[in-house]
Amino acid sequence: MFATLSDRLADTFKNLRGKGRLSEADVDATAREIRIALLEADVALPVVKEFVAAVKERARGEEVSQALNPAQQVVKIVNEELVAILGGETRRLRYAKTGPTVIMLAGLQGAGKTTLAAKLALWLKEQGKTPMLVACDLQRPNAVKQLQVNGERVGVPVYAPEPGNGVGDPVAVARGSIEEAKRRVHDVVIVDTAGRLGVDAELMQQASDIRDAVQPDEVLFVVDAMIGQDAVSTAQAFLDGVGYDGVVLTKLDGDARGGAALSIASITGKPVMFASNGEKMTDFDLFHPDRMASRILD
Ligand code: GDP
Repeated sequence: MFATLSDRLADTFKNLRGKGRLSEADVDATAREIRIALLEADVALPVVKEFVAAVKERARGEEVSQALNPAQQVVKIVNEELVAILGGETRRLRYAKTGPTVIMLAGLQGAGKTTLAAKLALWLKEQGKTPMLVACDLQRPNAVKQLQVNGERVGVPVYAPEPGNGVGDPVAVARGSIEEAKRRVHDVVIVDTAGRLGVDAELMQQASDIRDAVQPDEVLFVVDAMIGQDAVSTAQAFLDGVGYDGVVLTKLDGDARGGAALSIASITGKPVMFASNGEKMTDFDLFHPDRMASRILD
């Protein structure tokens, strides 16, 4: 196991308690420890650099020189900066003022979108909503079936193309789903879209066409927390290609330290809104920036 950042800094500051302002050597040693801790958490290098520069600046200031325990104070600063980049407060879903709220999911194949769609539906149901799931992933042979199975598990209806009727046209399915939701008085519509193994132009175009057809209130980019450094380029590609309002991190039950969360939030400026952490339908919650900051630090 890696030493925690708190331990590392306590070690760096061993001989320094009550000494007042940090020397440049102390600031550099601090920066080095933070840099290592963030790289170990798989945070992207440009994000690490910017972060370390910001903390260095604050470490030279009064809040550290006046502190009884500079190590603790620096850890507090690091924590505050992490929480700020991760979005500060948990960002809540925005619901439509009239008609059904439309939530569209986008992301790479295997990110966990189909699973997440059902988890989100269950979570919304528990909040008193009457969601409907929409199967627009017509690319992956089993995706419609998988969504139907998951929908059944959480007791939420799934709108899917009738065999032989509109199959292969996810935009038509998406459009039809909104009418269906209005007819059946579903107040939230969750649209699952196709993902590819890598980012490609056709995928982006299809997702953009679905977005234009259903005018979502929220587009959520679903991303596997385990992809680490690749998270940044994928997140940027989806931001440029489709655009989104928030991020959902999946597979946080794995051993990823959560660096992807920090990298994506920092590079895209979009808040992480939900966290998925397991295969059970209830392994899902709002994302809490403070908890993720602790995970990255410890
Ligand atoms: P999609 O291609 O984006 O729709 O991804 P799927 O929903 O099919 O998920 C891909 C795989 O990841 C499946 O085997 C899921 O069971 C698994 N999965 C999804 N979310 C999580 C999660 O939070 N934790 C774990 N451990 N596995 C997950």
